[in-house]
Amino acid sequence: MRHQDTFLDLSPKLSDRTAKTTCYMCACRCGINVHLKDGRVAYIEGNRDHPVNKGVLCAKGAAGIMQVTAPSRLSAPLRRVGPRGSGQFEEISWDEALETATAWMAPLRATAPEKLAFFTGRDQSQSLTGWWAQQFGTPNYAAHGGFCSVNMAAAGIYTMGGAFWEFGQPDWERTKLLLLFGVAEDHDSNPIKMGLGKLKERGARVIGINPIRTGYNAVADDWIAITPGTDGLLILSLIHCLLTAGKIDLDYLARYTNAPVLVNEDPASPEHGLFLRDDAGKPLVTDRATGKPMAFDAAGVEPDLAHGLRRAGITHRPVFQLLAERYLDPSYAPEAVAERCGIPAARIHALAAELARVAFDEAIEIDQPWTDFRGERHEKMLGRPVAMHAMRGISAHSNGFQTARALHLLQILLGTVETPGGFRFKPPYPKPPEAHPKPHATATPGQPLKGPHLGYPMGPEHLALAPDGTPQRIDKAFSWENPLSAHGLMHMVIANAHAGDPYKIDTLFLYMANMAWNSSMSTGRVIEMLTDKDPETGEYVIPRIIYSDAYSSEMIAYADLILPDTTYLERHDCISLLDRPISEADAAADAIRWPVIDPDRDVRGFQSVLIDLGARLGLPGFVTPDGAPAFTDYADYITRHERRPGIGPLMGFRGAGDQTGRGAPHPDQLQRYIDNGGFFTHHIPQAAQYYKPWNTAYQDWAVELGLYDSPQPYLFNLYLEPLRRFQLAADGHGPHQPPDHLRARIRTTMDPLPIWYAPLGDDADTAQDFPLHALTQRPMAMYHSWGSQNAWLRQIHGQNPLYVPTNIWATHGFADGDWARLTSPHGSITVPVAHMAALNPNTVWTWNAIGKRKGAWALSEDAPEATKGFLLNHLIHELLPARGDGHRWSNSDPITGQAAWFDLRVRIEKVTAPAEAQPNFPALAPPHGGTR
Ligand code: SF4
Repeated sequence: MRHQDTFLDLSPKLSDRTAKTTCYMCACRCGINVHLKDGRVAYIEGNRDHPVNKGVLCAKGAAGIMQVTAPSRLSAPLRRVGPRGSGQFEEISWDEALETATAWMAPLRATAPEKLAFFTGRDQSQSLTGWWAQQFGTPNYAAHGGFCSVNMAAAGIYTMGGAFWEFGQPDWERTKLLLLFGVAEDHDSNPIKMGLGKLKERGARVIGINPIRTGYNAVADDWIAITPGTDGLLILSLIHCLLTAGKIDLDYLARYTNAPVLVNEDPASPEHGLFLRDDAGKPLVTDRATGKPMAFDAAGVEPDLAHGLRRAGITHRPVFQLLAERYLDPSYAPEAVAERCGIPAARIHALAAELARVAFDEAIEIDQPWTDFRGERHEKMLGRPVAMHAMRGISAHSNGFQTARALHLLQILLGTVETPGGFRFKPPYPKPPEAHPKPHATATPGQPLKGPHLGYPMGPEHLALAPDGTPQRIDKAFSWENPLSAHGLMHMVIANAHAGDPYKIDTLFLYMANMAWNSSMSTGRVIEMLTDKDPETGEYVIPRIIYSDAYSSEMIAYADLILPDTTYLERHDCISLLDRPISEADAAADAIRWPVIDPDRDVRGFQSVLIDLGARLGLPGFVTPDGAPAFTDYADYITRHERRPGIGPLMGFRGAGDQTGRGAPHPDQLQRYIDNGGFFTHHIPQAAQYYKPWNTAYQDWAVELGLYDSPQPYLFNLYLEPLRRFQLAADGHGPHQPPDHLRARIRTTMDPLPIWYAPLGDDADTAQDFPLHALTQRPMAMYHSWGSQNAWLRQIHGQNPLYVPTNIWATHGFADGDWARLTSPHGSITVPVAHMAALNPNTVWTWNAIGKRKGAWALSEDAPEATKGFLLNHLIHELLPARGDGHRWSNSDPITGQAAWFDLRVRIEKVTAPAEAQPNFPALAPPHGGTR
């Protein structure tokens, strides 16, 4: 054959059209171009114009195509016909399904709305789901933040009006040193990868502080193998070193934080530890020029860090003095904390010196004048180019809130927040705790709640308590047990509902939350709770369970009614400024998803289903005055809903299509978004890009856009006064009093200055019997993705060994192919092991949610996920062991209720390999209609 006879088409036409939408394979919300051929997804690529990923696509994003074709996809609404767990279902019509749900819920709303508990998992539509629950009137609503990373969010909001990830980002263009604390392999995904690429290009330095060296920690320039649960101690030791060396930004502290605010120092005063305030309630500082107390925001005031004030016989001292006294204490010296943290003292000194050197010797300036909230004009923007990023590794501990607070304190002492080269907020942040709602939880039959469920209490008066002091919420959020639980406690819902503590519920309504498997502590016991029956009535203790998911996950088998969801390529979604938008530090941005393909089965987008249910139930806002449905579906809601006059879910193309932020609904808004690539960006003016909490240009821009209704400048809370209010209550002050058994814990943990305490339950006896720490993280190729059954991704991770450090590996004589029994105070598992050198010597770990139950996710029963894969969840109890007084505390941070997944202690022993990982549950029968 001559060569010209062969034809090789090197550029075959793979698609006949491209649709630009937003990825949902993890929570980063990248822009994607979905290539379609004959109405089917041919392949997915990154959208180069998109503000989040600028064309970058990760393995998960590309594998989205397999979410559509997954054999585990549900096909139609299902009603359970056999016992829970049997997998016996019958297909029903959508009308039947929605009528059933309405018939279950309507009587609850009329008589006792709290008997509906509505909790969502990886929900990116919380401004809708929360509003729906609010209009229903139940206090029992939250998403998965309580078992994910609420400590990060709450500590950030309370300390500085924003946190990491969705709230802010390192100044990638200018940072010279980045510290990663407790950041798992890939959290978050493309934005951090792209940022790290920029740092590496410029030769900036990255230091990973993490017990495990994988993912970002593996590409860091330096790795510090900290012992789990001790990050707070390390950070406070760094603060000790910086204070000792005088390497802190005093000007920044005086101007922008509450370091100069005066604190009542009289132990006999009921206001001991609270701020001195003027008649308008504004905290007072001493003015350096006059020596007189003045409101913190008075024009021309020069806040003094050094001098206190005596008034009415009471001494008041600036926060800064209390802070310096606390952390200069030798108990925070590197030599004092080194052993506990597992880091040599010299290394801690060196890290502190590196922070100081970069922040102060490599400071940067931008020639950009700006005016602060006191009216002072600054000719330049001064930057200290140290940035930090942190995630669940430091927050999923029972000391995580104070640890995250300590990290923010470190950032602020260096003057690196909202300054060039440091950490920058992303609109709608910054937003101080005072600007957030307070929690609402008083249920009234037939009525909506008076406000949103979740919020930021500023003192005991904002707790969600009944008149008799019992928790109003089923998860006991915002109670004395977890006063600042800003995201609820999803991990306690089933246990509390089963125990009837604080009361019984009737219907558990879940969305995308695999509570019968990897999203619950003590999975086997949760399955028992879901199937337990009242011996007197013969009815299930949790009488009704409604569940919405697109896939045949483990939770499906335990639901009574299943509302099958679509994939993210088959429905509308809204990534909203009212919720978690896609903003960058220099721009507000939001986005949509839209049906780029039609579902080939009888499924509906959950958000549209919720809107339909709202109308059937006659919920205010979901029906017109004459009782007709207010919205045809979620797309209609996104376009026409107004949370406040002129403020809707999307900021772009409002009014006549030319208004941004504020403006009447525009009927073609969604099409305009589609034409614009699926997103909308609104840039922050140059003069407003840094110093956002105090910069008048930013504040005015934010008001114009509708983020605030009036300028809201504020000070960073080095000293967190709301915590002190809880301590005062524990000391017997005020009308709102905690139960006696919690007084000591509140006094100890709710310190207004960041502290470190050992994780709860981590006592000497436990440490002796269970000497190792056990951790999990999601693998990079599946981080935050829903469906590790994805056909492409499971080729990367089909099973999860327990990684064992070299010293433990050698001590126990492990070899490749061996198995181990891992035992915690709560139970045992038997699992395959693998050696890993880059690991803290007292820590074992594995990937979470690879292990699957047989029969679930349409995997074959001999799939490695079901035979060798495993969960650590079996080793973790939702309650800590009983204390001396008989009380069992929840396995959570005592301040926020964050699930303390990473407090787990274990011991390990080598065992003969069993046939399969243990425990091994009986196979689930795939539900009828679950596969096709
Ligand atoms: S999976 Fe996440 S990081 Fe990857 S492309 Fe999608 S949204 Fe972006």
